[in-house]
Amino acid sequence: MGATVLSLQGLSHVYVNDKGASLALEAIDLTVSKGEFISLVGPSGCGKTTLLSLLAGLFPPTVGTVTVNGRAVTGPTPAVGYMLQQDYLFPWRTIRDNAAIGLEIGGQRTKASMQKVEHWLSELGLEGYGGRYPHELSGGMRQRVALARTLVTEPDVLLLDEPFSALDLHIKLQLEELVQSTLERLGKTAVLVTHDLAEAAAMSDRVIVLGRNPGHIRREVAIPTAIREADPMTARKLPAFQAVFEELWAELDAVDGKGDA
Ligand code: ADP
Ligand code: MG
Repeated sequence: MGATVLSLQGLSHVYVNDKGASLALEAIDLTVSKGEFISLVGPSGCGKTTLLSLLAGLFPPTVGTVTVNGRAVTGPTPAVGYMLQQDYLFPWRTIRDNAAIGLEIGGQRTKASMQKVEHWLSELGLEGYGGRYPHELSGGMRQRVALARTLVTEPDVLLLDEPFSALDLHIKLQLEELVQSTLERLGKTAVLVTHDLAEAAAMSDRVIVLGRNPGHIRREVAIPTAIREADPMTARKLPAFQAVFEELWAELDAVDGKGDA
């Protein structure tokens, strides 16, 4: 693994609203190396989305620092791209224009950058769909548009918040494979949030198990090399896979066993 790309130091976050203050995350320390793929798993409400939002610079942490490529994150940065469970494609825009939204927001929509849009659409199996509209595409294709949209802005880090969870199993496995192989080829660093422990085990180099009340890191599970080197579909069939899955399962069961559900 290469240099540190992402670093969270002493991160805590308190939400304040009319009902009072609540501690969503406490004392999170985490570093992620260039090209590493990590997953965050944990029960609902343990702060996964909050953590990704802090990484994306959507709001500042109450305490602690987030750095990307050695620089403190103080707001959204082109170095970090965000892909969500819902694809948030605008229905009135063509696929091409949806994939260009990140470029437009960054003031980078040019002829040359639009060629990158075409490149990524065809790279992700959407050649010929640039002039279509979102409703003409299946769920898996729409998520590929969302991935293209994220990749054209050339982020170093991709944040993936349950991007596969609304898909049928077959499509989900295909998309996992496409995302993993694409990010690996590009040397991108990725942080995936998922409810699916098999997905976390099959896609990641490392799985971070979070506990709740307040959100904290319970455990980091390193994924064995054989599983890491296999594509996500093949990984699930390897002998070592079941043991990793059970380890994650037991850890999450222990979280639920703490009785604050
Ligand atoms: P997860 O994504 O793991 O389900 P979240 O990060 O969404 O968890 O939420 C973590 C905790 O912070 C939860 O207790 C949630 O209710 C609370 N929370 C999330 N967003 C807000 C907000 N905007 N205002 C107040 N509390 C929030
Ligand atoms: Mg969430």
